[in-house]
Amino acid sequence: MKGTPRNKLLEISMIERQHTFKETTLTYDKDVAINEAKRCLNCKSAPCRQGCPVGVNIPLFISKIADSNFDSAVQVVKATNALPAVCGRVCPQSEQCEKLCVRGKNGSAVAIGCLERFLGDYAIDNGIYCAAVGANTLKAGHGSVAIIGSGPASLTCACECIQNGYKVVVFEALHALGGVLIYGIPEFRLPKRLVDAEIKSLVSLGVKFEINTLIGRSISFSDLRKRFDAVFIGTGAGLPNFMDIEGENLNGVYSANEYLTRVNLMKAYLDESDTPIMRARNVLVIGGGNVAFDSARTAMRLGSKSVVLAYRRTKDEIPARVEEVEQAEIEGVIISILSIPVKLLSDDNGNVRGAILKKCKLSEMDVRGRRSFEIIENTDYEIECDLVIVAIGTNPNPIVKECFSDLVTDSVGRVLVDQNNITNLPGVYAGGDAVTGAATVISAMGAGRSAAKSIARQLNGKYIN
Ligand code: FAD
Ligand code: SF4
Ligand code: SF4
Repeated sequence: MKGTPRNKLLEISMIERQHTFKETTLTYDKDVAINEAKRCLNCKSAPCRQGCPVGVNIPLFISKIADSNFDSAVQVVKATNALPAVCGRVCPQSEQCEKLCVRGKNGSAVAIGCLERFLGDYAIDNGIYCAAVGANTLKAGHGSVAIIGSGPASLTCACECIQNGYKVVVFEALHALGGVLIYGIPEFRLPKRLVDAEIKSLVSLGVKFEINTLIGRSISFSDLRKRFDAVFIGTGAGLPNFMDIEGENLNGVYSANEYLTRVNLMKAYLDESDTPIMRARNVLVIGGGNVAFDSARTAMRLGSKSVVLAYRRTKDEIPARVEEVEQAEIEGVIISILSIPVKLLSDDNGNVRGAILKKCKLSEMDVRGRRSFEIIENTDYEIECDLVIVAIGTNPNPIVKECFSDLVTDSVGRVLVDQNNITNLPGVYAGGDAVTGAATVISAMGAGRSAAKSIARQLNGKYIN
């Protein structure tokens, strides 16, 4: 059994992908999960664990799946990762846990993410909620915690704080909860029912949620600090960057944030939705991260004839998950590497009609250890497009800095914290993209957990995990 190849996820047909937003891949069934789990060598040193930002006990949960002991396997995962159905789907496993899997050295790594996804779905289907410690073992701590934002950093912090016995209120600016999980990552990659189920579990533990509440406007930061013993800032990085090139203000040029929010949060892909979305013939997406690939695959599903994704480095440097790049290509997205748009072209009515791009070449490593690029002059070429989606990164919204005037941030508005997610303001903690800039779900969750530990220390509660 240990010599068998990795079990692949089944996929829905191309016809379904072209016309629906159904999830593209299907979760393992029990037999396949057990079969995949038996590929694990149960290594004593467990190098895979070093690759997991929250240190999930991978060999232990996998061995429990192999023994068909699913309930117990769920408890193992949830002890350090409250959102396995989410992480199993969106973690960049090939760069994290699976990258270090021993089986990957002479074959294919154990499908740790797929197994975690299986368990996450099993937990939701069987009503096994939140972290390993159930409501009946909640510690009776004293104190109250306000959590700003409802993305994965905040949900994790809320889960840990409620289990420590504190009163927890989550304030969310939007009308729906989940942060990027709900407004950014498309339904075909992360079904929203899974995020809703995780939030329901927090409600069942006693977390209160206040939606449509923009902290800094609806409630001032100073009021919040008076009303609560501790405050966690998990406001994400929702402010899109633009290229600052000619033509970026034309009609038909969207930030990926706006495009995906219209489609995911406002359900513009459904006929019954009131939210308009441009269904373009030829689409140019600029960028190479998950956001760019989500935008490109969304445009394909909305009926575009051609979707070109322009990325200024090579395929080796693409930061998106390997699986998303593969799926995008299967779905017909054209990846134009070493290409950078330098000008967007207008028709007579101020609508975008095309773009001029230049070719690039790789140069030396940048400060982040990634190859830089240089534009090659006199390599201009033109493409036709009636929709351009700019997905070149985001920064924290300046409202955070404006409203929390004494909070120390860096030049682009990221909140500065120490290694325990403590800010310069007493009783105020921060984590997730608000601190790191656009990063990953699991790193945001790790930060939420670290902040919860610091909050517990402040409120003199004993930390239960
Ligand atoms: P967010 O998820 O951004 O949540 C912040 C929340 O705070 C938002 O709901 C916002 O409305 C709310 N808020 C902001 N200001 C206020 C305020 N003043 N008052 C009240 N509420 C406020 N990561 C991966 O690991 N894998 C992926 O495949 C992946 N794909 C992605 C695809 C897209 C399209 C995007 C945009 C991101 C993707 N990411 C992915 C990144 C990941 O989603 C983020 O790193 C993660 O969601 C950050 O979590 P967070 O809790 O810090 O913030
Ligand atoms: Fe791997 Fe992410 Fe699960 Fe950690 S949380 S084991 S990195 S899939
Ligand atoms: Fe199993 Fe791979 Fe981890 Fe070894 S490194 S315990 S084979 S998942």
